Amino acid sequence: GYEWSSENRTPLEELENVMLSTPDEEHAKAWTQYYTSGPHLAGKNLSQALYTKDRFEEFGIPAEIVTYEIYTNYPLSHRLALLKVCEDGSSGASVSDNDLELLFEASLTEPALEEDPTSGLDNRIPTFHGYSANGNVTSEYIWANYGTHRDYDDLLRKDVNITGKVVLCRYGKIFRGLKVKRAQELGAIGVLIYSDPGDDGDMTELNGHEAYPKGPARNRYSVQRGSVQFLSFAPGDPTTPGRPSLPGAPRDDPQRYIPSIPSLPISYDDALPLLKALNGQGLNASDLGGNWGTGGLYHEGVKYNVGPAPGIVVNMVNEVEYDIVPQWDVIARIEGYIKDETVLVGNHRDAWVAGGAGDPNSGSSALLEMARTFGKMLASGWKPARTIILASWDGEEYGLLGSTEWVEDNAHYLKKNALAYINVDMAARSHVLKTSANPLLNDVLHGATSKVPDPDSVAKGENKSIHDVWDKRIATIGSGSDYTAFQDFMGIPSLDMSFGGQDKNGPVYHYHSNYDSFHWMEKFGDPGFHYHTAMAKIWGLITLNLAENIIVPFNATAYAHALNSYLARIVSLLENGDQPGDEDPPHPMKFSHNHGHDHGHDHDHKKHLHHRLKHLNQTIQGLIHKATHFDKHAAYIRTELHRSDLPKWKKLLLILKARRVNQQYKNLDRAFLFHEGLDGRELFKHVVFAPGLWTGYSGDTFPGLVESVQDRNWTNAIRWSRIIEGSVHRAIAVLH
Ligand code: GLU
Ligand code: CA
Ligand code: ZN
Ligand code: ZN
Repeated sequence: GYEWSSENRTPLEELENVMLSTPDEEHAKAWTQYYTSGPHLAGKNLSQALYTKDRFEEFGIPAEIVTYEIYTNYPLSHRLALLKVCEDGSSGASVSDNDLELLFEASLTEPALEEDPTSGLDNRIPTFHGYSANGNVTSEYIWANYGTHRDYDDLLRKDVNITGKVVLCRYGKIFRGLKVKRAQELGAIGVLIYSDPGDDGDMTELNGHEAYPKGPARNRYSVQRGSVQFLSFAPGDPTTPGRPSLPGAPRDDPQRYIPSIPSLPISYDDALPLLKALNGQGLNASDLGGNWGTGGLYHEGVKYNVGPAPGIVVNMVNEVEYDIVPQWDVIARIEGYIKDETVLVGNHRDAWVAGGAGDPNSGSSALLEMARTFGKMLASGWKPARTIILASWDGEEYGLLGSTEWVEDNAHYLKKNALAYINVDMAARSHVLKTSANPLLNDVLHGATSKVPDPDSVAKGENKSIHDVWDKRIATIGSGSDYTAFQDFMGIPSLDMSFGGQDKNGPVYHYHSNYDSFHWMEKFGDPGFHYHTAMAKIWGLITLNLAENIIVPFNATAYAHALNSYLARIVSLLENGDQPGDEDPPHPMKFSHNHGHDHGHDHDHKKHLHHRLKHLNQTIQGLIHKATHFDKHAAYIRTELHRSDLPKWKKLLLILKARRVNQQYKNLDRAFLFHEGLDGRELFKHVVFAPGLWTGYSGDTFPGLVESVQDRNWTNAIRWSRIIEGSVHRAIAVLH
């Protein structure tokens, strides 16, 4: 059957018009209202899973609930207190309760606000960290800035003792679980992470936004919950790395992937007394240079000292219950004509909080609006050329659980059929589009955003598209949402987008707080739900283009050029040394041994590496050449197929050619998979893309090579340059 190419099918432009005219603000608002009013937490949201399935089916899209049994924790109790060790009490290592005077008891709660009905719901989830460890510890504490690898390195260099201490650090720069991981490696016994208004909070004094509920900005009581899993090492159920958490699945000890020391997220209101108690104690941020500026609490009397303050201790308690519980993905499927080319879209449904209006339900709302539009097309007789799978994931917040387990469960199918995965997590929490993508998907993103009007411009009577107002930056795909297993385990080109960029006044969002509520969204985030609606349209257009275009609209040339620029970055890293910014991964090996290379060999190896990289560069030039021709060839077939005067035999021939080109596009990203995986994190199989080892969210390119160069491990860098070159050769062969 080549029915998909028949003249009787609805032209893509007509389908696009349906996608541009169907999603509306009323529906977007209603979906958000529904999702933000019920139980949300992973493994506790069955009613919302069933509701989502029912909506898909009501739209005419068959759907099923897929259940995995996943190891997770739920909060039981917590405590944080600031205490003073009495003079006559025991000195030294062990302190008993009798020797302590209570200075401050942290509230660890986000108070209910009169203006915000969901902020006071009984089903509020206590503040805690997903995958945090149980513990009750009392000790001196130090302030460690953002808790990045580099920050800890700076402290070690100044002989600050971290062993046996509680670490207090601010949110920001990197994924929170990596702050805990490094603290644990250095012998800390607990970690407290707070939202400093200088980075992640109430920007009232700093940029003119008022704190919620008066204005949109994070207020002093707002807490960022979140997972502390070691995300860049292994997303998914930490007891089943690489295989699905189905009933009876063998389970590993999870300790490799989750912390063994307790941690708590706290508001800055709760952090203030702890920070102030360090004033004048130990080093000051100003002694530590570069990344150690003071934060937004300076005006509240915090001097940002490292401490510790002798005789001042914290007692932190984190009591959580670990269990293996069912979690529910909702998988809907629109069957297409072509059996082995599938387009996937997904959003997560679980949230930390009662509301979750921005994260994730603005995305859940957009997903339903897009699905409703597909339903309308189906009702008029449409069948897509390619199969479309729509997913509503559970357990994203704990560690991309639902998506990772599903990918592991369906690895065989995906390897054979998956064309692309398009993720939307927080669809709308600002009006500023932010994107990250595999470069193969650049064109389709530019195309879709050009067709959707920008709501703010429309309101001003201007005729501008989202594309017109977008900064057009497409970031390297890293991690932090559900595309990770698709892109990094399976070599499925992935894209992530959100109206989540900072406006000119900075971040104002209640990320992972109870105040990420329907009320916040309606009043401040996206009044009128225009950006929810716009996201449904962009997402729908991208999906339609991938599913309907006779030629898969991939840009292989952009991919090849991107590889060229990633390599250039490494060459300059090698030549000029590492000049990382705040977020860049540090030198992980600085404080351990240097792989035992002696200096003479070191020089030879480095020379050899230079030689290898030149070679790799030539091979990449070959891919650029190949890809450019290939994209041209594909474009030619597309144009020819649109001619109305084609004789039947010629059309059939072109369709056969199109079919081959599409298969080649589909297989291109798979060429970059290396089955042994990255060093020390074997689940990550992609040689081009991975989350930064010590950043988590931001993407690394050629991670194996970059990490080896940063370690000054030239032999391993040579090994990686060979592995990468092999995959570039495979990519060239795929396009042959
Ligand atoms: N979006 C979640 C977060 O940033 C993802 C958690 C994870 O990837 O482990 O907390
Ligand atoms: Ca698993
Ligand atoms: Zn999310
Ligand atoms: Zn989240």
